[in-house]
Amino acid sequence: MKNLRKTRLILAGLFLVLSVAYVFAGGWAGRLGTLSFRSQIIPSMISVALGATLFWLVITIIYGRIYCATVCPAGTLIDIASRLRRFLPASRRRYRYRPRRQARYHILAVYAICLIAGITVVPALIEPWNIFANIAAVARPDASALAAAGLGIGAATGIAAGAASLLAMAAVSVLWGRGFCNTVCPVGTVLSIAGSNAAYRIEIDPDRCTGCLICEDVCPAGCVKVVGRYVDDQRCVRCMKCVDRCPDGAIRWQSGRNRAATPLMKRAKSGGV
Ligand code: SF4
Ligand code: SF4
Ligand code: SF4
Repeated sequence: MKNLRKTRLILAGLFLVLSVAYVFAGGWAGRLGTLSFRSQIIPSMISVALGATLFWLVITIIYGRIYCATVCPAGTLIDIASRLRRFLPASRRRYRYRPRRQARYHILAVYAICLIAGITVVPALIEPWNIFANIAAVARPDASALAAAGLGIGAATGIAAGAASLLAMAAVSVLWGRGFCNTVCPVGTVLSIAGSNAAYRIEIDPDRCTGCLICEDVCPAGCVKVVGRYVDDQRCVRCMKCVDRCPDGAIRWQSGRNRAATPLMKRAKSGGV
């Protein structure tokens, strides 16, 4: 189980490097970077090459939001930015369980309407690959000018939009971890619906859990509630932090749900208490 987080981090780093190569490099490195671009859900939908979209939907139905843990460069940038939380006051460094926000469905609806109506500004600001490209464009003004022209705005406005994306993303990540992923991102909302009954889920074993709260403290999605031994699997982005940090191996990525804790009286009768 400990290797899951390492594997996930290696894959996320690899896809981030490939995405950067796609945007910045020419030649063989740029061509290699195409692998990452073609693995992204929205670009694959827009180019009507639906293979990647269908692949990720099936993977999500079985394993949950692996895509958000590995392939999405915006998600990896969010994880990197959220490391700045260590500079917050000690009382604010820990994550806490946050309830689901219904606003994500409204945002998804607005996003879909904009796509159908050909309004590009909203997708440019909230679609994950566009966010990554906007941020990258700050470091590459010629790409920014191109993107800005596509949106019908001036190059300076395009660079300003990229810088604003970068600052907004960093601020939101520091304050709420994967809050963007679970409230704003339209891809995240679709994947959370697809993975709402994933065959492999993050589950707490109530017989092993000591209630130390570490998993809740480290969950950037704010989807672990130790009281009640509850994980909101829809919002879990499969970062594997909780699995890695639990001192008792009580929270696991497994197939199926755990049964309820062995009742106290039953354990007492069998001599377990
Ligand atoms: S929710 Fe969106 S931004 Fe977050 S990792 Fe998933 S696809 Fe990327
Ligand atoms: S880290 Fe492990 S033992 Fe601690 S509360 Fe979470 S599941 Fe329970
Ligand atoms: S429940 Fe665990 S794997 Fe899921 S997002 Fe939270 S810390 Fe990551």
